[in-house]
Amino acid sequence: MKGKIRNCILCGNSYKFCPRCSKDEPSWKKLYDKASCKALYELILLYKEEAITLDEAQNRFSALDISGIDTSNIKPAFQSYLDEIKKKKRAKSKKNVDVAVEEIIEESSDNDESVELESDEALLDEE
Ligand SMILES: [Zn+2]
Repeated sequence: MKGKIRNCILCGNSYKFCPRCSKDEPSWKKLYDKASCKALYELILLYKEEAITLDEAQNRFSALDISGIDTSNIKPAFQSYLDEIKKKKRAKSKKNVDVAVEEIIEESSDNDESVELESDEALLDEE
């Protein structure tokens, strides 16, 4: 296949694409090697331009399948935004886990014998 070597503007991956000999291919192939690169690039742009909030960006990000993208080659300017989108999500989900654990402890502190025994043991260990 003819076509000049292009570099995906998101992940930097080099690929061949010729708009004239690949009429069946989508036009975004001029810029990105993969549809997922296009989706992620557009998401980062929206967030960068503050067209969407961080929450919105994270919601959209979690719906994306970026498993095929080599994120280590993303340009630093985009990488920092991507890190922001990814980082907050992790902190958020950890908080949810903490809350869930607290709820379980509260629920089981009622009249459950086995849990009472366990908490007695825990107290002994602390002394
Ligand atoms: Zn790419």
